[in-house]
Amino acid sequence: MRHLPIFLDLSGRLALVVGQGSVAERKADLLRRAGAQVTVTERFAPELLADCAVAIGTGAAESDLQALANAARASGIPCNIVDRPELCTFIMPAIVDRNPLTVAIGSGGAAPVLARLLRARIEAAVPPAFGRLAAIAAEFRDEMRRRLPDLQARRRLLERLFGGSASELVFAGREAEARDVFARALRDGAAAEGMVFLVGAGPGAADLLTLRAQRLLGEADVIVHDRLVGDDVLDLARRDAERIYVGKARANHCLPQADINALLIRLAREGRRVVRLKGGDPFIFGRGGEEAEALAAAGVRFAVVPGVTAALACAAAEAIPLTHRDVARAVTFVTGHTRDGRLDLDFTSLVKSSATLAVYMGIVSPPQLRDGLFAAGLDARTPAALIESGGTDEQRALHGTLDELVARAPGWTRGGPTLVLIGEAIGRGARQSGIAAAA
Ligand code: SAH
Repeated sequence: MRHLPIFLDLSGRLALVVGQGSVAERKADLLRRAGAQVTVTERFAPELLADCAVAIGTGAAESDLQALANAARASGIPCNIVDRPELCTFIMPAIVDRNPLTVAIGSGGAAPVLARLLRARIEAAVPPAFGRLAAIAAEFRDEMRRRLPDLQARRRLLERLFGGSASELVFAGREAEARDVFARALRDGAAAEGMVFLVGAGPGAADLLTLRAQRLLGEADVIVHDRLVGDDVLDLARRDAERIYVGKARANHCLPQADINALLIRLAREGRRVVRLKGGDPFIFGRGGEEAEALAAAGVRFAVVPGVTAALACAAAEAIPLTHRDVARAVTFVTGHTRDGRLDLDFTSLVKSSATLAVYMGIVSPPQLRDGLFAAGLDARTPAALIESGGTDEQRALHGTLDELVARAPGWTRGGPTLVLIGEAIGRGARQSGIAAAA
């Protein structure tokens, strides 16, 4: 270890920053955040160092930086001259601030860029509200000591609480519920409380997951998933997590919804942390609403984590703006359920709204869609796009009018999920200027 990491208490102490420019300002801000009274000066004068707890130099004349470093060293005041390790008596770590929790990363001056890279990873892995968890735990400290005098028992309880639903409730902004979980665990010494997370897996690419979804996947005891969730995403799960597939594999039947609901409730009651993983967003044509209702009715705690829904992924991948100030001031997500073989959509109001339409296909066929929209008065020249496996490596797209799509679609699809976008805005964006290429 080249340097000893320590945390300095600067509250109410004096600090000196010699220099100007954005770096000097950032350093001054950082010192102020730690409670220091900061003097910022362009030129160094020895008397400025008196009573200082720490000094930093950057963006000043070489002679000033040298003088500052020498004077600070002589009087034993920790000093950092930015990017001049030979003049420093301490180095500034890369910092992840989750007040009161703080992570400091150093590379001994050898590779600050690497330290910053590591910081970015930690930033992504540690939710912003992480510090709130520490604050809530602190509220229960006295009661915990009283009820659990044994240190080991307290540790075990805290580990369970921090690793369980209490944390996720805090991260989701549900602090009152988190306190309730703390209080109940203390009162009853209750077993770990199970919880279900209805998590959106996005369109398929693992890097289109939210950070929250990624974290929950890494922590879940059980993952209940269906067909649209790809292996890239499932690979993020803990190695020893149980995986339960409830989707439809072409020939087979999927588990009936009532059975899925019952499964989720049972798993949570066993005290497990359950991730119910759904393609796209769980609340867009994903029956997430039904699962949420069932969980609520059973008194099982749950939370919903949004995902990038197919319409957004497809539009982004094809550089199609779903709204456009000139031509589309609304966007409508519809799904085509057929009833008695007929499409169950209110075509008249869809056409009248002149919103961009995103049609989640399900079992709809393009001809039915075209006929319905044309009969309701849609201009036959309206641009449209058929997008398959949007937001994944296999993504392909067909652009044209609905007539053209209907003519070309058969034999074109490769069996991936497809979505149709319709509206004047489809002709705008990058394709209009010839940048994006169609498959
Ligand atoms: N909850 C999902 C939608 C489930 S309904 C979401 O928010 O995206 C399933 C339909 O979504 C499919 O029939 C298809 O129309 C569409 N879909 C899902 N993933 C898709 C993808 N990667 N590309 C194109 N369409 C997709």
